[in-house]
Parts: sequence; C-alpha cells; structure tokens
Amino acid sequence: MRSFAAQFCSHNSKVKRRGLRPNSQHPGPEAGNRGNNLRGLKNKRVLITGGASGIGAATAARFLEEGSRVCILDRDAKACAAIRHQLPAISEAIIADVTDLMQVEAALADAIRVMDGVDVLINNAGISIRHNFLDITPEEWDKVIAVNLTGVFYVAQTAARHMMENYTVERGSGVILQTASTNGIVGQPYYADYNATKAGVIELTKTMALELAPKVRVCAAAPGYVLTPMQRAEYTDAMLDEVNRKIPLRRHAQPEEIAALFAFLASDDAAYATGHVYTLDGGEIAGGLASR
Ligand code: NAD
Repeated sequence: MRSFAAQFCSHNSKVKRRGLRPNSQHPGPEAGNRGNNLRGLKNKRVLITGGASGIGAATAARFLEEGSRVCILDRDAKACAAIRHQLPAISEAIIADVTDLMQVEAALADAIRVMDGVDVLINNAGISIRHNFLDITPEEWDKVIAVNLTGVFYVAQTAARHMMENYTVERGSGVILQTASTNGIVGQPYYADYNATKAGVIELTKTMALELAPKVRVCAAAPGYVLTPMQRAEYTDAMLDEVNRKIPLRRHAQPEEIAALFAFLASDDAAYATGHVYTLDGGEIAGGLASR
C-alpha cells in the first residue's frame, strides 16, 4: 500500500527529493494500532516545518495518532491544501517560507494563536541538490544554506523565545527536535553543501540544548536514506538498489520510522534526552570500509 505521505510532494527536478516508495519488507504503521502509546503526547501542541511532505507529513500523522494537536508549516501551498484534506484533524497548515524571518515570525504567531501555544517544534524543512562539488554555483550554495541552516535557525530561535517565556522546570519542558542527517556525520559525495548544513544543524542543536536547558530540550534526528519523494527524484531504481545493498538492514527507512523517533523524543519517555543526535539509518554508518 502506498503511504499517505507520498501524496504530498511537489517536484523540482534539480532539488533532491528522496522519494517515498512502498516497502514490502516493513509492515509500516498500518500494521498495528499504536495510538497513545507514548507518555505525555496527548494534547501536546506540535508545530512541524516541512510538514506537507515526506518525513514531516508522516510525523504530523503520527502526532495526531498520539492525540497531539498539530500545525504544519510549509512553503508549498498545493501540498498544504492536500494535507489539510488528507489529515483533517490538523489544526492548521500554514503557508510560509522558513528562509524569510518575517514569514517565520508570523507563522509562529499563527500556530500559537490556533493551538494556544507551541510545546513541540519539529524543525524539519529541508532541500538538497545533487551536484559535484566543483559545479556548485554560488546561487545553489546560498539556496541550500538558506533553507537548511538559516531557516532552521530562524524557526528554532523564534520558537525557543516563545518556549523560554512559557515554560518552567516544574511545569515541564518545551521540546525542539531538528532534522539532521547521516550526511552531517560522514562525508557523502555530490552533496557537499547539504552535508555542511546538516553538520551545522547538529552543532546548532548541541549548543541550543546547553543554553536552553532545563526549560527546553533540544535534540536532532539523523536519518539515513528515507524513501520520500526527495530521494525518488534523484535516484533511479538501480541507484536505490545499489544503496540498499550497502545498508546493513538492506533497505531505506520509511518516513513513518523517522516519525516514530520524533514521537519518542518529544514524549515524556524521553524526558532525560537533550543535546544529542539520534541516528536512525539501518546501520548505514556503523562500519568502515571493511563493512561495505
Ligand atoms: P520532502 O521534500 O518530502 O519534504 C520537505 C518539505 O519541506 C516539503 O514539503 C517542502 O515544501 C518543504 N520545504 C522546503 N523548503 C522549504 C522552505 N523554504 N520553507 C518551508 N518549507 C519548505 O523531503 P523529506 O525527505 O521528507 O525531508 C525532510 C527533512 O529530512 C529534510 O530536512 C531532509 O534534509 C531530511 N532528510 C531526508 C532524508 C531522506 O533520505 N529523505 C535523509 C536524511 C534527512
């Protein structure tokens, strides 16, 4: 069965969209009733950037299943309309571009108005472009940095200011979770700009965690290869098969598996988690040359 998140994808042929594909080896979230399994997510107010597609859309669905209230923020108006239709329980799909600080501030204010606050931010919007290091143009470099690093900073700082004003240690903490990547941990050809932004997200996460503790917990998820439209647009079937052969678990992740990590990290079950990066990659970066 095709995952719902696959439907929320607009395309830009040069922008890497790691494509969603059904995965028969993994039962997926439909296989079991897992609602309300994690402590503390019921009625949590969650804002998800890049929530109209791929990992963000799967994460929106997961938090709704857990009884949370969810707003998404995405620059793709068409995808926002589609996800409103697919997930009618969403409180709001806010159209905004994370590279524009004024739009980010207005979107945060919207989410706070609609949900009466934001407890959890999933800072997830991102793009990538597959190109040789020697061919990267200044415009491409700026574009990737603007979305993946500056945009992450704008959203994180705006949300953190709100959380720092509204949380006390006694009442529980706010949570900021950011989407990094294994590309921010190990080098990977053809994505030098993207890799640099994801390494930046990891360091941003650690520093924010130190400065915002104990009121706000801050963690990053570092997914390996995930079958979202991003991946599909730049990888042929042959390329996907080649990658799968090298991953110890022999497959890409489903977006719902990354959503499950976000749900855990946002929950009270992860109340002691802050300042770290949680890799979810099927073993992709566990080994060196000998493991390939
Ligand atoms: P996706 O393309 O399916 O979803 C990304 C969403 O972000 C889209 O809805 C898009 O409209 C939105 N977006 C892009 N630029 C934006 C902007 N400037 N303002 C607001 N919204 C914007 O991709 P995905 O695979 O779900 O990726 C989500 C995150 O996961 C990204 O940060 C990506 O780098 C990261 N990631 C993906 C993979 C993978 O293999 N798919 C692996 C590791 C990390």
